Amino acid sequence: MKSIYWFRNDLRLEDNAALNSALNNSDHILFVHIDDDMNDAECEWQFSRRGQHRKIFMYQGLEELQLNLKSYGHHLNRFVGKTNLIFQELINRHHINSVYCESINAFEEQAQERLIKELGVNLYSYYQSSMYMPHQLPFDIKDLPDVFTHFRKNIETTGIVPEEPIALSGQIKNTIPILDSKTNLTQELTEDYSQSSFPISDKKFKGGERTAQLHIDQYFQSDYPNSYKYSRNNLMGIECSTKFSPWLSLGFISANQIYSALKRYEQRNSANDSTYWIYFELLWRDYFRFLFMKYGKIFFYKNGLGLSNKSFQHNEEKFNEWKNGKTPSSFINAGISELNQTGFISNRMRQILASYLVNELACDWRAGAAWFEHQLIDYDVYSNYGNWSYIAGVGTDPRGGRHFNVDKQKNTYDPDGSYEKEWIKL
Ligand SMILES: Cc1cc2nc3c(=O)[nH]c(=O)nc-3n(C[C@H](O)[C@H](O)[C@H](O)COP(=O)(O)OP(=O)(O)OC[C@H]3O[C@@H](n4cnc5c(N)ncnc54)[C@H](O)[C@@H]3O)c2cc1C
Repeated sequence: MKSIYWFRNDLRLEDNAALNSALNNSDHILFVHIDDDMNDAECEWQFSRRGQHRKIFMYQGLEELQLNLKSYGHHLNRFVGKTNLIFQELINRHHINSVYCESINAFEEQAQERLIKELGVNLYSYYQSSMYMPHQLPFDIKDLPDVFTHFRKNIETTGIVPEEPIALSGQIKNTIPILDSKTNLTQELTEDYSQSSFPISDKKFKGGERTAQLHIDQYFQSDYPNSYKYSRNNLMGIECSTKFSPWLSLGFISANQIYSALKRYEQRNSANDSTYWIYFELLWRDYFRFLFMKYGKIFFYKNGLGLSNKSFQHNEEKFNEWKNGKTPSSFINAGISELNQTGFISNRMRQILASYLVNELACDWRAGAAWFEHQLIDYDVYSNYGNWSYIAGVGTDPRGGRHFNVDKQKNTYDPDGSYEKEWIKL
């Protein structure tokens, strides 16, 4: 049996059920990654969907994946182009019977799967990107509560636990590699990341499975998890929050691997409100994934889930001022400057910037979400659009959206102005 394993947002070997299934059911295997043209296509707001930061991070991680596969005698065949056309050629050239991959519950990704099926191969795709799997939920997705707290309580009272991470199948040593491409693409580091809270120029913050695993190990060997709840809102600093999100978004680590490491930490030390809060935030990540499964396309509508009557009059000039850090607020400009220069900002700054765009500038929240999509290293369609619509008051916030007072936020989180000074070079 000749198969393709198609790496998507699961750029890892460990805890990868889709990959294990491919290995356990194939004699010959072609490992493929495709950087699809659509990643760099222009979005409806006239800029590209993906900027340099995330591209660099992903390419770093692909190099690591190549090395990991090489250690088992395999090869990652890398391509740039149109996914369906590349598959068509590969399937014909190598007489492929089956394609295995993780399933991504989003429209373009589902369309890619449909096109591959039309090429006459068996396609086996496995959903695996949340901490709880949909089949574990104590309700049908269509009955998912529209309020996060109800969802959380439902999960917690039922007592379901995330599945244990699984090891890489030993079959990787017996499966014969198929080679197609010798391409090894790299991406230049063009910005100065040295002051970033997620400095991808530092080898400890590169994209990649081993780097991610090392970071989780070090994080849970430190005392930081004990005080996470009280430091997570700080605007800057490597240790104030976990920094798991960039590695999670491309699947260099899985949510279950993190959950399992968290539980081991609690057993070694003790559980407290901070360790619980790490779980709590990971549950938010799951919640946005399940909300998308429930609502589908309307997740991206201007009026979001349609649970409120809020309206926006988009002003392109104001939006451009916001995204270029030229608003009347130097605090907002500093936040945008950090985002644009480094591809990473704290959760609190994301909330402040989003609130400013929708409340002070009355702009369409989707334009802001698209700018975050362009810049963020940790861009994740569900968490990004879910959080934006929540703040804009068109998601599931029972309070109808969040309006942050910029002066109050600045006084609380940047009382001495050091954050502003850092990101607005005089
Ligand atoms: C407007 C806006 C846009 C956002 N866009 C994204 C995005 O594209 N990708 C992304 O991963 N997160 C996004 N978030 C959520 C959150 O800001 C980041 O996950 C977090 O800042 C990443 O840093 P960390 O890993 O140190 O998080 P920690 O505070 O250490 O949290 C641990 C993990 O929990 C999850 N998490 C934390 N907060 C949230 C949240 N509010 N919603 C969903 N999951 C959460 C993340 O996976 C994170 O890695 C967004 C938040 C806002 C307000």
